[in-house]
Amino acid sequence: MRNRIVPFWAVALLLVLVLSAGSCSGSHPAPAATPAPAPSSINLTALDTSISPCQDFYQYACGNWDAHNPIPADQSSWGAFEMLAERNREDLHKILDQAEVDTAKKDKVTQEVGDYYAACMNQAGVDTASFHPLHSELNNINSLTSKAELGAEIARLQVDGVNALFGFGSDQDFKDATREIAEADQAGIALPDRDYYLKTDAKSVALRKQYQAHVEKMMELLGDKPAQAATEARTVLRIETALARASQDKVTRRDPSKLYHMMSLAQFRSLAPDVDWSAYFQGTGTPAFQTLNVVAPNFFRGMNAELNAVPLADWKTYLRWELVHQFAPALSQPFVDANFAFFGTALTGQKENKPRWERCVSSTDQHLGEALGQLYVQKYFSPTAKAHMEAMVGHLETALGQDIQSLDWMTAPTKKQALIKLKAVMNKIGYPDKWRDYSSIVITRDNYYTDLRRTNAFEWHRQLAKIGKPVDRSEWLMTPPTVNAYYQPQFNEIVFPAGILQPPFFNPNRDDATNYGAIGVIIGHEMTHGFDDEGRKFDAQGNLRDWWTAADAKAFEQRTACIVSEYGAFSPLPGVKLNGKLTLGENTADNGGARIAYMALQAALTAQPQQLIDGYDAAQRFFLGFGQDFCENVRPQLARLYATVDPHSPGRFRVDGVVQNMPQFAQAFHCGPTDPMVAPAGKACRVW
Ligand SMILES: [Zn+2]
Repeated sequence: MRNRIVPFWAVALLLVLVLSAGSCSGSHPAPAATPAPAPSSINLTALDTSISPCQDFYQYACGNWDAHNPIPADQSSWGAFEMLAERNREDLHKILDQAEVDTAKKDKVTQEVGDYYAACMNQAGVDTASFHPLHSELNNINSLTSKAELGAEIARLQVDGVNALFGFGSDQDFKDATREIAEADQAGIALPDRDYYLKTDAKSVALRKQYQAHVEKMMELLGDKPAQAATEARTVLRIETALARASQDKVTRRDPSKLYHMMSLAQFRSLAPDVDWSAYFQGTGTPAFQTLNVVAPNFFRGMNAELNAVPLADWKTYLRWELVHQFAPALSQPFVDANFAFFGTALTGQKENKPRWERCVSSTDQHLGEALGQLYVQKYFSPTAKAHMEAMVGHLETALGQDIQSLDWMTAPTKKQALIKLKAVMNKIGYPDKWRDYSSIVITRDNYYTDLRRTNAFEWHRQLAKIGKPVDRSEWLMTPPTVNAYYQPQFNEIVFPAGILQPPFFNPNRDDATNYGAIGVIIGHEMTHGFDDEGRKFDAQGNLRDWWTAADAKAFEQRTACIVSEYGAFSPLPGVKLNGKLTLGENTADNGGARIAYMALQAALTAQPQQLIDGYDAAQRFFLGFGQDFCENVRPQLARLYATVDPHSPGRFRVDGVVQNMPQFAQAFHCGPTDPMVAPAGKACRVW
């Protein structure tokens, strides 16, 4: 669903969404429905006690884990998130293995996911078909006779899920959170970010060469002669580079005001007059509308210039590439292998592709997530976990309210507004109240390509059908088994899928201190997103509206500048620094989250005696629980990719960056004022 406009900028995640997964044969935890006896507390075997926590806390909390948990060959990173995601996929695998069996007695939902999974697992059928499933679409592209016909062809490709040229869909109106409007955005490139096309350092240049060779290889697999394929690859790179150049960069896209350009349909058409928009809207089945948000107007100007400048033959090449690229994972083995060699190995350092069952589990989750999710939560999510989590969220809300009231840099009028916003935050825990109904999709048991296209088209039409309708606030942007969480500013809500509400992040039977450190900080992180550099620009109802006094906004920015410079000095790889502005929102959320989770723990502890567990007191277990969330090993290729596109800092800096700012940490581990994990006097950053 690449073409659907996912408001990436708007959803502040806990962890980067792209490019993770894998296989490990670690022991399997008991399902949440029948909890295992409580693990004592933190993971003692992860600790590197040869170093002082005051010297490098990440190393202390995770050093031994990092040393003894090499990245599996079919992963590009490995840590607590990836391990739990892997276990969840194994749970889903069991569900799908049963659902796949062809019996008459199955309910509708089991039938849907079972058939989809069976078709995906039919490797022999997929291999026999080679790239024949693409034939009719390749013929459509080949038979274009004028650029005027591109509008209809792009429409056809986008409905099927192909990332052709630009993005179109629906979104909540930034300034009226009750209504859904049409929205157009930049898109049309296959590499992860515009920087990949424009950066001139040696690594970027070398990677572009590999990318060009990959495009060439795919064109050869489509039957083109090597010389022709080489020319085509140059064409693709030229067109995508022009689209990248016209695109907004990631830091610009953190500012919602730069993403909001309401205009009439006539104004939009005039940005890109050479697209046959009538044919496009008809082809995509877009409901009638009069105004829309054009997220990046300059992109459409640049795209139109490119449309004029490039001959039709080159556009055909570009569309063929985007088509084969989109569906490569659903084609025969040579396509899968070539696609993996570049997008897996070259881009992220992953050495081996995942076994087919894992790819098919992920595909089912991605395309029928709320059907598979129903079966998942029935089996693996308990009401006890939900109730316990709801109570913790309540305690964290109280703590954030007290924190806001105590701030010395914010004046009373803004505090009042902040508290109104906090009170209005909605919580979604576990799974949706209302499940998406996929029954209109005809799913085959033996044609994976067709199933993919149909599920993509279903999602496309589902998104477009929202245009002009009231917003449905019950909707979820993640599936239940996902090991992640998010804050959505336009809903003013925090969302925790069932998938993350398990050890090591959450265990209702574990001592409070570790839970507040491990999941409490994550809850606080999501809440703080409502008040980070992006989130603070939305009000309690989710409207883009400035509720800050000018002086308080200035004070906020002074404080966030401290975070920008602290994290901008961290270096994940030799010669690579973190982008302090790109990572500002996540770093602010990590710092605020840790502080309010710590406050909530202190409140909880007044009701119970302090005790040592495993030799650590409650405050120490809190910080260790937090630190161990982020134990990870990451391949250098992926670390480089993350440094470019990921708004999150690497685990080591998420941990060390936070504890340096917290006097509570220095106190807990008895650190001295000159220790590296203690910011020099007056230099500790604090926003919330
Ligand atoms: Zn986040």
